Order: sequence, then structure tokens, then C-alpha cells
Amino acid sequence: FTEVSVLGVNFIQATVQQFLNQVYQDSLDRQNRFIVTANPEIVLTARANHKYAQIVAGADYTTADGIGIIKGAQILGTPLPERITGFDSMLAILKWAGQHHKRVFLLGAKPEVVKAAVTKVEVKFPGIKICGWQDGYFEDEDAVAEKIRSAHPDFVFAALGFPKQEYFIAKYRHVADAIWMGVGGSFDVLAG
Ligand code: UDP
Repeated sequence: FTEVSVLGVNFIQATVQQFLNQVYQDSLDRQNRFIVTANPEIVLTARANHKYAQIVAGADYTTADGIGIIKGAQILGTPLPERITGFDSMLAILKWAGQHHKRVFLLGAKPEVVKAAVTKVEVKFPGIKICGWQDGYFEDEDAVAEKIRSAHPDFVFAALGFPKQEYFIAKYRHVADAIWMGVGGSFDVLAG
């Protein structure tokens, strides 16, 4: 994708459908991918924190998850077609993953929340294989990474909140050739 810089973050110039189609193709090709759906808080944190900015810059696809980012791009004369939100993208990807019998790992949120999210996903997206799950309040991150590696996921959704989820993905994405995506508080919404 062509990228558009807004406040120092490079966003993909893509519609929701173009973005999703690319992700699906990447999954079929077993590509290792890191997706950031960047909301204004993430953009501001990246501006204030050089280390976090570098982590976000290392993502393969950063999408504009905020109307302010879309407006900013418009004003700068490099328009972005539409907002691509984390939650809606996650739902679309889960639907596709079910249709294609893909393996999904859910990482993050409180134990009872992630457990409820697993059940919801299995009911709502038949065909999906939840290959593992882990709450987001762990001590030993190497052990969690090993759990993910041995689960052989096609998709890893990390709901650890930002910036924690992006740091985790950047550090451990090498353990599985999967699509890795930070999804913030999405498991709480899903479980609720
Ligand atoms: N979370 C987690 N581990 C942590 C901190 C947060 O798993 O150490 C989870 C939290 O339970 C929630 C999600 O991360 O499900 C998002 O948290 P928050 O709303 O604070 O962050 P944001 O949505 O703003 O990224």
C-alpha cells in the first residue's frame, strides 16, 4: 500500500476491504504480519515516546482508527479513503478465519474476560479453531511466547492495552508466522 504520514505515523492508504483482502492473502501465504490500528491515543503516544514510535514504525500495516486522522490527512492533501477500526477489523477477520478453519490465539484481558471471549468467538464464528488463549496479567512473557509458538496460530489477537500489546508483538512476532494484531479493549466488548 501507499503510505500517508500524519503526525509522524505512516498510515496505509486503503479502504477497509482492500486492507482485509490483503490480510487474508497474507494469511493464505503464511506471511508474518504486524497490524496496528492506530487511534489518536496511539498517535500521540508515538509522538511523545521515540521507542514506541519505532515499534509502530515496524508494523507492516498501520491503519487510521480515528476520524481526526482522516481529517488530518485530508487537510494535508493526502487523503485516506476511510477509517479502519480495530474492533470491526477483528470481527471481519474472525469471520473469515471461521470460514477458512484458521487457528486463532487470544491473548490478553482478565482471565474471566478472555475465557468469555473464547466462548463467544467459538459460537459466533463456526469453523474457527481457538488454538490457545492466555489472560493479559502474566509475569513470564517468554513462557507466554512459548505457549503461542507451540499453538501454531494463524492469527494472534493481543488485547493487552497499548503500548504493552505493541511491545509484546514486536518482541515475539518471530515465534509464529501469523497475523499479529493489537486489539486494545476488544475482548471486553466481545465478552460483554
Ligand atoms: N490489559 C491486559 N494486561 C495489562 C493491562 C491491560 O490484559 O497488563 C487489558 C485489559 O484487561 C483490557 C485491555 O488490556 O482488556 C485494554 O485495556 P485498556 O482499556 O486500559 O487499554 P486501551 O483499550 O486504551 O488500549
